Amino acid sequence: MQTLHLTDRETDLQLAADLLKRGELVAIPTETVYGLAADAQNGVAVANIFKAKGRPADNPLIVHIAHSEQLQDLVADVPSAAMDLSRAFWPGPLTMIFKKAPSIPNEVSAGLDTVAVRMPSHPIARRIIELSCPLAAPSANRSGIPSPTEAARVAEDMDGRIAAVVDGGSCEVGVESTVVDVTGERVRVLRPGAVTVEMLAQVVDKVEVDDAVTHEVQAGQTVSSPGMKYKHYAPNARVVLLKGTPTAYTAYVNEHATDGVMALCFDGEESNLNVPFLTYGKRADHAAQAKQLFEALRLLDERHASVAYTACPSPDGIGLAVYNRLLRAAGFEVIELD
Ligand code: AMP
Ligand code: MG
Repeated sequence: MQTLHLTDRETDLQLAADLLKRGELVAIPTETVYGLAADAQNGVAVANIFKAKGRPADNPLIVHIAHSEQLQDLVADVPSAAMDLSRAFWPGPLTMIFKKAPSIPNEVSAGLDTVAVRMPSHPIARRIIELSCPLAAPSANRSGIPSPTEAARVAEDMDGRIAAVVDGGSCEVGVESTVVDVTGERVRVLRPGAVTVEMLAQVVDKVEVDDAVTHEVQAGQTVSSPGMKYKHYAPNARVVLLKGTPTAYTAYVNEHATDGVMALCFDGEESNLNVPFLTYGKRADHAAQAKQLFEALRLLDERHASVAYTACPSPDGIGLAVYNRLLRAAGFEVIELD
């Protein structure tokens, strides 16, 4: 299959929408990461997403909508917490888990009785949904590796496997949406993102963070979000997270400087390192870290790193999302330095 490379021109967006309505797969930009989209109500098209990505069949997808009215057909009910959160954070990088409506194919919900829904803010994503239909879309990478935040990265993974890629430039946020379960008594964060725990707590009373956000899921353990049990976001390089001061970080990396070792550090903390390095934002700038993380992880492989000693972000604000992705990229290999 020849993959079309489309622009943000209206005629291209119309073409993308037509392909989607015909059951084809199209990668689209969103404010979080690029998504690999299919008509959410076409089970065959959705099944093809899993094939193109090599995604485990038990990992459900997020349905993307452009208007609140589209929610009614997708979910069984809208709890009051969800109403409040949608008013505060939609359109934007917040996904909510609802009891699903009968119209949701099993391929989307991976056999669960719930469905994840989000309303993206990216104008290209919104326009394509308006011109087509609600879209099921996971990140547009091959399963397991870092999510794409540039159209060229999508093409690397998906050329020949999907009908088209729409180029919308670099994604603003850089990590996937915050996922919250709103079906229970308390709003529960299943995956952290740019809508932070602190922001959620300003809108709803009871917010809790699932254990799996910062802890490894043990074999056989039941998880609220199937995606949390898989190794994720990982480059070929072995990622090791180093927790400690900039001085302790530099000392540790230099003591372990052998062939193939690279440092993935914060901007401005590279000067005394004796190994090749990449940076991913300043230590205090979590938004910059989120925006640059996945591209930095992909660059490690291009530079043939075998080990990447990675400076660990503090887990507050959007930093929790960065920390969560890095923990998985590192397979939970963390060293406490101080
Ligand atoms: P991705 O599409 O790659 O951003 O991943 C979507 C994330 O949302 C995965 O971690 C899924 O496990 C999670 N997810 C999607 N639908 C549900 C659902 N119905 N219940 C719980 N988690 C979900
Ligand atoms: Mg993904």
